Amino acid sequence: MKNKVFLTRTLHDFALKELRKRYQIEIHSGKIPIPKTKLRSKIKEIDGLICFPYDKIEKETIDCAENLKVISTYSVGFDHIDTKYAKEKKIRVGYTPEVLTDATADLAFSLLLDVSRRVSEGDRIIRDGKWKKIYGAYDYVGVDLQGKTIGILGLGRIGSTMAKRAKAFDMKIIYHSRKRVSKSREKALGAKYVSFEKLVSQSDFISIHVPHTKETDQLFDMKVFKKMKETSFLINTSRGKVINEKDLVAALKKKIISGAGLDVFESEPISKKHPFVKLPNIVLAPHIGSSTKETRSKMAEITVKNLDLGMKGKKPIYSVGY
Ligand code: NAP
Repeated sequence: MKNKVFLTRTLHDFALKELRKRYQIEIHSGKIPIPKTKLRSKIKEIDGLICFPYDKIEKETIDCAENLKVISTYSVGFDHIDTKYAKEKKIRVGYTPEVLTDATADLAFSLLLDVSRRVSEGDRIIRDGKWKKIYGAYDYVGVDLQGKTIGILGLGRIGSTMAKRAKAFDMKIIYHSRKRVSKSREKALGAKYVSFEKLVSQSDFISIHVPHTKETDQLFDMKVFKKMKETSFLINTSRGKVINEKDLVAALKKKIISGAGLDVFESEPISKKHPFVKLPNIVLAPHIGSSTKETRSKMAEITVKNLDLGMKGKKPIYSVGY
C-alpha cells in the first residue's frame, strides 16, 4: 500500500508523474485556498502534505494529523506554517529557497523601474484614451535612478540580488538587517550597513526583503512613512503583512511618499474595490515574484525532493529547523 500524499493545489505534470510513482496522491480541486475544515479532515489521513504559501498550517491543523511525516511548501516563505509546533511533533518542513532568488529580485526591480518611470500609469492613460498631447516638458516625468540611494531591508538571498541589480544601475546602496554581513560581502555588493532609522530617512527607494515575522509585522506604518523622503518610493516583494496597508493608502494619497510597487498584500487576492486600485502612484502585481517558467519548474522539483526525503524520515534539502 502506497503512502498517501495530499496536494492543496495541483503542480506541474512532471511533478505529479514523479509523485504518482511512489505515492497515492490526491489533489484538492475546489476553492483556493482550501477551506480549513477540508484541510483538517484530509490531514488526518495522510503521510505527506504539499502546500502553498496561502494555506495556513497552524497548530490546530497540525493537531489533526495522525501519520503526517512531512509538510513540503511550494514557496520560500514559511510564515504560514507553525514550524515550531511541527518540529515538536517531529514533522519535517521543506521549503524552496535559492531557485527563486533571481526571479523575485527581477520582479522587485521591475516594480521599481515601473513606478519610477510611470510605465503602468502611462499604459492606463493610453488605454483610457487620455493621451492627447505629445511630449510636453512636464508630461509624465519620472525620476532617474543613477546616483539615487536604494535602501534594502533584509540583505539575504533576494536582498543581495536586488543590490546587484541596483549596482548595475549606478545606485548607492545602503542596507539594514538584524545582523551586519561580512565586510567582504558588503564590498562585493557595494552596500553600506545603516540603522533602520537611517535606511528609512536616507533612501530614495526602499525595497523590502525580510520575512514576515512578529518583529516585521506591520513594520511600515504611518510613523515610518512620515520619516521617509517625500520623493521616495516603497517596493515590497516580501510579504504584505510587513506593511500597514491603510497607512500606505493614506501616505500615497497625501503624497507623504511618492509611490509604491507591490507584489504582495495583507490578504490575497485583492479585489477591484481595494483602495490601492484607485491610486495612480502605485504599481500592483498579483504575487508573481517567483513566477517564471524556469523558476516555477525548479520549485516543483525541490518541493517533490523535499517531500521524498521527509517521507523517508530524512531532512529535506531545504528544511526549516528539523
Ligand atoms: P533570506 O535569505 O532569509 O533573507 C531575509 C533577510 O531578512 C535576511 O538577511 C535576514 O537577515 C533579514 N531579516 C530577518 N528578520 C529581520 C528583521 N526583523 N529586521 C531586519 N532584517 C531581518 O530570505 P529570501 O530568500 O531573501 O526571501 C525573503 C522573503 O521574500 C521571504 O521570506 C518571502 O516572504 C519573500 N518572497 C516573496 C516572493 C514573491 O513571490 N513575492 C518570492 C520569494 C520570496 P538577519 O536575520 O541577519 O537580519
